[in-house]
Amino acid sequence: MSLTLYNTLGRSLQEFVPAKPGKVGFYGCGPTVYNYAHIGNLRTYVFEDVLVRALRWLGYEVTHVMNVTDVGHLTGDDDSGDDKMVRSAVERGKSVLEIAKFYTDAFFSDAERLGIARPTIVCNATDHVGDMIALIRRIEANGYTYLSGGNLYFDVSKFPTYGELAQLDLSEQKAGARIEVDANKRNPFDFVLWFTRSKFENQALVWDSPWGRGYPGWHIECSAMSMKYLGEHFDIHAGGIDHVSIHHTNEIAQSEAATGRRWVGYWLHAEFLVMNKGKMSKSSGGFLTLQSLVDKGYDPLDFRYFCFGAHYRSQLAFSWEGLDAAKAARKALIEKVIVLKGRAGSPSPLDGIGPEANDYLDRFRGHVEQDLNAPRALSELWGVLKDNAVPAGDALSAAFEMDRVLGFSLAAAERKPVVSMDPVFAAETDKLVAERIEAKRARNFARADEIRDELTAKGVSVEDSPDGTIWKLARG
Ligand code: AMP
Ligand code: ZN
Repeated sequence: MSLTLYNTLGRSLQEFVPAKPGKVGFYGCGPTVYNYAHIGNLRTYVFEDVLVRALRWLGYEVTHVMNVTDVGHLTGDDDSGDDKMVRSAVERGKSVLEIAKFYTDAFFSDAERLGIARPTIVCNATDHVGDMIALIRRIEANGYTYLSGGNLYFDVSKFPTYGELAQLDLSEQKAGARIEVDANKRNPFDFVLWFTRSKFENQALVWDSPWGRGYPGWHIECSAMSMKYLGEHFDIHAGGIDHVSIHHTNEIAQSEAATGRRWVGYWLHAEFLVMNKGKMSKSSGGFLTLQSLVDKGYDPLDFRYFCFGAHYRSQLAFSWEGLDAAKAARKALIEKVIVLKGRAGSPSPLDGIGPEANDYLDRFRGHVEQDLNAPRALSELWGVLKDNAVPAGDALSAAFEMDRVLGFSLAAAERKPVVSMDPVFAAETDKLVAERIEAKRARNFARADEIRDELTAKGVSVEDSPDGTIWKLARG
């Protein structure tokens, strides 16, 4: 068996063959940090997390790059409307950078609570403007640009395969049908690479460039940063389905115009989470955040479980009843694992598990390899946990394997021990453990070791596992 993925480029299921055997370069468009992520956005990031976990579980070494958009994204993806960051800063009476920092932290806190593995590289647009300018210069040198009304535009008429990803029929499109008409554009599909004469008097962040002082268009950041960290050709690019027709279409045009070669092998797109009344969007206001679910008594992982109620290429309708069902199911799952732990003591060694559990694992792998079918994969997890013919240790072992892809932290499942611990001590220890995780993430191992020593001195032991870090009072 091998991994099959649905490639939006060509609209077909294709066997996944990475450019370099055993290695995967993956870029997922990250958040625009002008507000909290809504649960629709988070569905897309949960999908990308399953993709990364699945690739790693299947043995690939994955470099996952995610951008953080802190400049250049207008309320319309097609260069129309206001600058999202500036608007948010004005509304909240803060600076753009303060807004960016606050919502970046909020985003990664949500991601962590959802069991989403931190990308290998997280990069801010504002730290990479030099890379964007260098890339735009290449596009310009190859003859794909024009200056008009003070802005530098990409000329789509020079790029014959423009719209291939979205299967756009350019001849049938009338100006203004897809995009607001901008009098400076020669063709309605042309898009801004660099804004100099901004329509926003109060544009907060501007840089010098060969085209004048200004700021980059939104699309160029993804091309520049992905190529910087993954090279001029890489394997997988993903995002929400709304990005197919404009953002990803434009990313392809400008990247391939610069390099003259195929940029990305596989394009994966997650369908929308929809509310009863249609699309959930940040710009239109009134959206649900992860914290709003937590405030109503749900665990973030209940939402993760809810996301597995549909294949990533199908729309998923949000409802409170559905979330209640996910919460109850996840609770039952944890209970099941705790009971099996009590029965078996510990999971069987993976290479020693019997054929009954292995059958479930094989089927699980088949579902994962068939375009990441999380709902079916989840049903195999239930199957192995409920099957009385499977020895408890084997079931646990298989479940923990599956959890490497599903991400419910099952290995850490335990009944909360009834012990009284000084709450100040517990809170201080939590803080130190979190600091150590952060230090390790930042590859500051000296600091991480220092904190471990500090914890040991307090009589606390920490254990790192693929499912996270837990701390205990050391015995004796
Ligand atoms: P943004 O921060 O607006 O750039 O969006 C972040 C990600 O969420 C992008 O990949 C979008 O395509 C995706 N997205 C936006 N709305 C939804 C939704 N309702 N359901 C699923 N994904 C979404
Ligand atoms: Zn992007």
